Amino acid sequence: MTNATQGMIIVAEQISKHFPLPDGKGTFTVLKDVNVHVRDSEVLALLGRSGSGKSTLLRIMAGLIPPSSGQVISSGKPLNGPNADVAMVFQSFALLPWLTVQENVELGLEAQRVGREERRVRALKAIDMVGLDGFENAYPKELSGGMRQRVGFARALVVQPQVLFMDEPFSALDVLTAENLRGEIGDLWEAGMFPARSILIVTHNIEEAVLLADRVIILGANPGHVRGELQIDLPRPRDRTAARFQALVDYIYTVMTNPEAKVTAVPEPTATHPPPFPPLPHARSGGISGLLEILLERGGQDDLPLLAQRLRLEIDDLLPIVDAAVLLGFASVVEGDVIVSDMGRAFAQADILTSKELFRQQVLAHVPLIVTIVQTLREKQKGGMRADFFLDILDEHYPYDEAQRQFATAVDWGRYAELFEYDAVEERLYLPEPVIHNQDQGT
Ligand code: ADP
Ligand code: MG
Repeated sequence: MTNATQGMIIVAEQISKHFPLPDGKGTFTVLKDVNVHVRDSEVLALLGRSGSGKSTLLRIMAGLIPPSSGQVISSGKPLNGPNADVAMVFQSFALLPWLTVQENVELGLEAQRVGREERRVRALKAIDMVGLDGFENAYPKELSGGMRQRVGFARALVVQPQVLFMDEPFSALDVLTAENLRGEIGDLWEAGMFPARSILIVTHNIEEAVLLADRVIILGANPGHVRGELQIDLPRPRDRTAARFQALVDYIYTVMTNPEAKVTAVPEPTATHPPPFPPLPHARSGGISGLLEILLERGGQDDLPLLAQRLRLEIDDLLPIVDAAVLLGFASVVEGDVIVSDMGRAFAQADILTSKELFRQQVLAHVPLIVTIVQTLREKQKGGMRADFFLDILDEHYPYDEAQRQFATAVDWGRYAELFEYDAVEERLYLPEPVIHNQDQGT
């Protein structure tokens, strides 16, 4: 290894990739002059929008496809064929349906000509590590999506790669399953028990990158190129509600919605602590999407007083809905005009499941009260929690009536986001039941 590559496991130098166009004339450039390296003992995230060439870059670094120009150096040697330092977890589990869990996990070891007994022992250990103990003999079709992806992880980890590559490993899972599995992977890493030296994760999910990574490389598109990188200087385990976490997410969000912006300054930690539960504007989820739809019909922007007049609403009745849309990143207000954001447009125009997912994502990013409720319910696990528990906390910050209204708004948003359920008769909050298919055991 040269000095320049000391402490680096994989170095991708000046990678470009072209694909032939379907008409046979000319080529399409997917990656241009990309330089990326994976250091020893780090979690590196490659963050970019869909189509920015993330999967292509990952495949090139894994030696599954060659670059058009540039080279990959792994453990000091130029790569020429599949990268033996790497094991990959795919978005679409890619399990063999006719093999059991254990047989799927042993596959990678067979390729390495590991003997039968050692294969068995190592596979069982990997299966145990990902929480699938007892499912060794199940077939993939008997498993939920979350469990299938656990097999995907076990199959990659069993070979004890230098670097674990993950290509959007949580994006085919429902939100809670994804959150659960992501948390476990983070825990394994933090416990120092991870059977790989480094992790390279490809994602388009900003929060996921900030939750898991030590370093985030932001890719731009057309053609794919590195826009810059950020060090994620947050202590582990990571706290989504920390001001610094939010600042990093907001910063990256701003950069990613502005293709021209330079990725340079990491924002400073905020000096003053915001109140633990900033007040929620009293607007219902349905009202927020209704407002966005009306605005989109008018080109995505309208003058606030005129809008109130047209809707025959007092401005004071309209403002909380606007404030809620702004709080959730669905809109902004500039000089008396309310303007729908890209996120707001996506939310209002998506199908119901996608818009719920976007709502959930924005709520978790921007509403600490709901994050606290969800975390408390997860810790409690069984039987839910009495509403009074949260009302007592709110009472410390708000007068009685306002605490009730804050709680009612949080419940409306949390229910719509399917983050929790509320039984108004028992006055208890519950985590939603996991989606159950046939023999599924949840995640
Ligand atoms: P991402 O993972 O960031 O969504 P991909 O690497 O999958 O991006 O794809 C980037 C672009 O390259 C897309 O426009 C895709 O259509 C194109 N592409 C990927 N693989 C091929 C291929 N084998 N042939 C032609 N075009 C491809
Ligand atoms: Mg991809």
